[in-house]
Amino acid sequence: MNILVQKFGGTSVATNERRNMAVSKVINAIEQGYSPVVVVSAIGRNGDPYATDTMINFAKSINNDIPKREMDILMSCCEIISSVIFTNTLISKGYKAKAFTGGQAGIITNSNFGNADIIRVESNHLMDAVNQNIIPVVAGFQGITVDGEITTLGRGGSDISAVLLGEALKAYAVEIYTDVDGIMTADPRIVSNANILKKISYNEVFQLAEQGAKVIHPRAVEIAMRGNVPLIIKNTMTDSQGTIITQYNDAYNNIYNADKLVTGIANLNNRVQIVLNMANDENNIFEKIAENKISIDLINIFPDKKVFTISEQDLQKLEELLEKYKIDYTIKENCSKVSIVGNRIRGVPGVMSKIIKILSDNDIEIYQTADSYDTISCLISQDKTEKAIRALHDEFKL
Ligand code: ADP
Ligand code: MG
Repeated sequence: MNILVQKFGGTSVATNERRNMAVSKVINAIEQGYSPVVVVSAIGRNGDPYATDTMINFAKSINNDIPKREMDILMSCCEIISSVIFTNTLISKGYKAKAFTGGQAGIITNSNFGNADIIRVESNHLMDAVNQNIIPVVAGFQGITVDGEITTLGRGGSDISAVLLGEALKAYAVEIYTDVDGIMTADPRIVSNANILKKISYNEVFQLAEQGAKVIHPRAVEIAMRGNVPLIIKNTMTDSQGTIITQYNDAYNNIYNADKLVTGIANLNNRVQIVLNMANDENNIFEKIAENKISIDLINIFPDKKVFTISEQDLQKLEELLEKYKIDYTIKENCSKVSIVGNRIRGVPGVMSKIIKILSDNDIEIYQTADSYDTISCLISQDKTEKAIRALHDEFKL
């Protein structure tokens, strides 16, 4: 059985025309001898009738504080609607298809509503369908607890569903269909002349995703890497070859950009820089921050102060904590973390100094930096983000 998982994102299922294009990709797979397993996201974006944000706003218009459990039940409906519509589109073209909720597809999670972790995948129901030549169409982004509670996997979670099923079904590959031709050297909405990367390693795409490139969920990349499932990012609306994500050695065999130091650039907006003016951490504040599930980043420890960044979403929670322990602090809001990623920057001297020069030549002040063996990040003012990315993209000749 040659299973091919095909995931279609929100814009790919948004209109009749796009769904027909998506269905033609499924038919194509069948004609090539694959057994497709389809995973769909919710239909459209905020404002569209069946989109997730539309539902959230509707519920919030009645009461802003929706319990997390009920929120997950509500959000899961959007992908379920999408799976039925997609199934019916396939049936209308003469194919046998069957819609599955995440739970029915066997995705078992813990009860961390809104951001549930996977416990296991029981793929026997999907396998039964595949064995009967029925195309399963699975509602992405959701699972079920052992007690039967509906859960969701967090924003972008349909990517996770697709890769999990790919791993469990021992698929030949997982194709992620979206609205761009593949993984590009930068977000094409920011850099209009960004280039498609034909091949990229799991590790680099993980870093890009982790540093804000929303084209694929970082957790999905991790799972694909764990299961050694090839991931392919493609455009629903074109016939482009897309990007193949594989092991590093495969990715750089005979590849056209193997001489380039930097693979891509990504950014994370809405970061806040925090400075704690204190010498010793008498209150174990970093432990308290972790207990409150506030994730911190770009950490620098000095004798008289501690500097780090958080997401704007966590600012209120953090401020309450710092005030409770009477810690003197200052904040800098509206920051953005711009990161360059490339497996080949490790051990190459002068990359950081080049970045510093490029940004300073463009009048962009750097508030903080961090580097690991394949990623260099700079914290800057958010209103300079696009300028910084374009300048770095130019200078590193991506
Ligand atoms: P989907 O709804 O199909 O999951 P997403 O909106 O989650 O689609 O992801 C696709 C978007 O990711 C693109 O429209 C693009 O603007 C953005 N993006 C950010 N960084 C990159 C990148 N490096 N390569 C390609 N797309 C990127
Ligand atoms: Mg997405």
